[in-house]
Amino acid sequence: MAIIVQKYGGTSVADAERIRNVARRIIRGYEQANQMVVVVSAMGNTTDDLLALARQITPAPDPRELDMLLSTGELVSCTLMAMALRSQGYDAISLSGSQAGIVTDATHGKARIASLDPSRIHQELDSDRIVIVAGFQGVTGEMDVTTLGRGGSDTTAVALAAALKASRCEIYTDVEGIFTADPRVVPGARKLDEIGYEEMLELASYGAKMHPRSIELGAVYNVPILVASSMSEATGTLIHGGASMEVRNKVRGVAYDRDVAKITVRGVPDRPGIAAHLFQPLADAGVSVDTIVQNASMERLTDLTFTVARRDVRQALEVVKPVASSIGATGVVSDDKLGKVSIVGTGMQNAPGYAARMFRTLHEAGINIEMITTSEIRITCIVAEERLQDAVRALHRAFELDQL
Ligand code: ASP
Ligand code: MG
Repeated sequence: MAIIVQKYGGTSVADAERIRNVARRIIRGYEQANQMVVVVSAMGNTTDDLLALARQITPAPDPRELDMLLSTGELVSCTLMAMALRSQGYDAISLSGSQAGIVTDATHGKARIASLDPSRIHQELDSDRIVIVAGFQGVTGEMDVTTLGRGGSDTTAVALAAALKASRCEIYTDVEGIFTADPRVVPGARKLDEIGYEEMLELASYGAKMHPRSIELGAVYNVPILVASSMSEATGTLIHGGASMEVRNKVRGVAYDRDVAKITVRGVPDRPGIAAHLFQPLADAGVSVDTIVQNASMERLTDLTFTVARRDVRQALEVVKPVASSIGATGVVSDDKLGKVSIVGTGMQNAPGYAARMFRTLHEAGINIEMITTSEIRITCIVAEERLQDAVRALHRAFELDQL
């Protein structure tokens, strides 16, 4: 018998009717002779509501207490799911993260899974039960409840699939899979039948929604992940590590991110150690720096430009300004109305011409490129936010992503 791990997102279990609908889908899997382990998210906007409630009590809730509170959202949905299955005559049991054997580190609010002992789950499966696990949570070695970060139920599901050596992990959500671009921006965006882990990671960190950690885990343990809609029978997108069958198009998707600001430190003396002087205090302040560009040095002075998330600009400026003047830089300027657009595809690695085509496309659309960065499977341009959507559409067309 094959073990299948399924995960249902908050929208899919938002009310009693939807919970009953999901229960029917679980039963179908069970009747096809599978051992079913099902991870559920909290119903609808429960997690947001709980967060808001905590903030009505105090603006800075204690992290341990907040995790205890947030973990209850998933407890509600997993118990109701077990009840729905039992009322249909199927033996089901709900387990909290800790009962399911999920042990994490103690980083409340974004804990990482340290170990997973699946023996209780195996025991329940051996008793022919359907096992429903509360997503997004675990427990520390000291038995304190933790949560895995927003969207963390995906990671619960993939971790369980790896530990149980499941034949696959199915993530059910309110969209039909992974698209070549955000369908709200590009009406002709197409659902992909398959995508590689690395490509998915680049798309995920650039907008498409899935907990990035779940993809990393999938890649490490080689768990095939099917992302599909819980409301339809469409086939979804398979995220996997094998060779791509869709060879025609080497660019798999266009991603964008609106949350970009840049800071330029002007006239920085060109001598060893200056970059370290600037970036260490930013790291100490917890500001995460993304793209960094240092301009060619003219008369021993350079410009250093880097990007941060928009919400971090003010803090970054507070940190950078005094450092800049202490090292003799001539000034600091910032622009927080930027966005980034990326083309992503493993196939680009060994094929020349993709960067040139991207730049030409943006040029023809009259869009100025502020900064450029690349990884092996991604080319990213930073552009004005007001032109971001035009850029996404133009690139989607230029790389023929709307065509099969
Ligand atoms: N309920 C949690 C959240 O909304 C976890 C999840 O949905 O995966 O972030
Ligand atoms: Mg959710």
